[in-house]
Amino acid sequence: MEISTKTEKTPIVVAYGDGIGPEIMSATLDILHAAGANIEPLEIKIGEKVYMEGFTSGIKPNDWDLLRKTGVMLKAPITTPQGGGYKSLNVSIRKMLGLYANVRPCNSYSPFVRTHHPMMDVVIIRENEEDLYAGIEHQQTDEVIQCLKLVSKPGTEKIIRYAFEYARAYGRKKVTCFSKDNIMKMTDGLFHRLFNEIGEEYPDIEKEHMIIDIGAAKLADSPEKFDVIVTGNLYGDIISDIAAQITGSVGIAGSANIGETFAMFEAIHGSAPDIAGKGVANPSGLLLGAVQMLVHIGDLQAAEKIHNAWLKTIEDGIHTADIYTQKHSLQKVNTREFTDAVIARLGQRPEKLKPITYSADSKKGIRIKVTPTVRAKKDLVGVDVFLQWNGNNAQSLGNQLIQITNAGLKLTMITNRGVKVYPDGYPETFCTDHWRCRYKQSDSNTLTYDKVLGLLEKIHSAGFEIIKTENLYNFNGEAGFSAGQGQ
Ligand code: NAD
Repeated sequence: MEISTKTEKTPIVVAYGDGIGPEIMSATLDILHAAGANIEPLEIKIGEKVYMEGFTSGIKPNDWDLLRKTGVMLKAPITTPQGGGYKSLNVSIRKMLGLYANVRPCNSYSPFVRTHHPMMDVVIIRENEEDLYAGIEHQQTDEVIQCLKLVSKPGTEKIIRYAFEYARAYGRKKVTCFSKDNIMKMTDGLFHRLFNEIGEEYPDIEKEHMIIDIGAAKLADSPEKFDVIVTGNLYGDIISDIAAQITGSVGIAGSANIGETFAMFEAIHGSAPDIAGKGVANPSGLLLGAVQMLVHIGDLQAAEKIHNAWLKTIEDGIHTADIYTQKHSLQKVNTREFTDAVIARLGQRPEKLKPITYSADSKKGIRIKVTPTVRAKKDLVGVDVFLQWNGNNAQSLGNQLIQITNAGLKLTMITNRGVKVYPDGYPETFCTDHWRCRYKQSDSNTLTYDKVLGLLEKIHSAGFEIIKTENLYNFNGEAGFSAGQGQ
């Protein structure tokens, strides 16, 4: 076995965060220092206090420069203030620094940690930059608020390729894709389609796809049947908490956020305000995140020493309250005592759990190349005009709008929350004040945006309140928009 003997200290940005953050970060750094990790922590302040000082992103502008210069961060969880005005710092860091892949290994440690799933060894690879986490939300009418789900081809290609490359690099056998493309045929459809297409380049790896709802149910029921899972941002967030929790506690899983030039390591759990300040939190999630960080910076000796000491501590039954049970544990300890127990075992290896070996081969630099975009022939073929209209009779709205035409653009359909209500709607369909009115061109002349503007002007002049529009395009002759439900 070849172990790195790297001696120079690697600067890493460290943030203590909120809630249990400072407790678990102190514990983690104590263990890292005791193991002789070659790191130089540079502390920045993030989270609640910074938000309250008026920085709505939760981080001071100068600290971005340090982050970008350093390229590595170890971050404790933070509390995102609820409600308007504040942006999630976690999401901002991931997106602004291009951390497109969130890697969340979830392992069970049976029989030492109570779990119904003793054979679990799943890695969840979550897309980290887009989807509903674009955070673009608008209230458009009194009754309706919108959140945009953005899914890009390059973003999807990056995460799918990363999942397959990860599987190959770490000797994994299967990649399962979770999506909801039976409903979101275009956004999730793209995710599934690229999974199939890119998957063909990896004949050595087994592939399967599941709709997220049954996939999540199967993961909760028989996680040992999964190996690597690749999925979108929101689904990945939800299923990785479930996966971590069913290993025994959400407190024992670490997470790596990987980009081209920057990487951030953290626990998967949040700031646990319910136990903050009590000194009882489990530092294992952040510690295992830090182990991933040590592997990333090439300090394999410290990574191996810490990981094995941690496994030995778990195997010796020294457990924090979240995983303590009379049957499986010997001693219930607080954060400090757990930390000391890990430090006391540095240099030891587990005897019953499988020891970890990190070799030079463990630092896998996964580099992803994205296929350049081929521009399609893009033709404007219509427009969806969204109105706030406070009536409730779709037929009456349709009868008025059918009279308004411009340059061959004619009303073809009205939907309410996606369901067709005109023509031939059902009186049972519940309608809000938010109406999508689809105009399509009925003649063979080229449709220009000027003609759309002319139509909008007429609709506006007739007294209707336009709240937004979406152009309808064909790409290489294929409709780039979905049909209405019931159309
Ligand atoms: P949470 O993960 O903080 O807590 C969920 C439950 O798990 C709580 O009962 C908590 O006590 C327990 N728990 C979590 N970590 C533990 C640990 N290390 N040891 C023992 N028990 C632990 O989720 P939440 O309560 O929904 O969120 C609290 C706050 O954390 C929110 O403000 C949320 O926005 C934030 N959050 C931050 C991050 C992050 O910084 N990466 C991630 C998720 C949530």
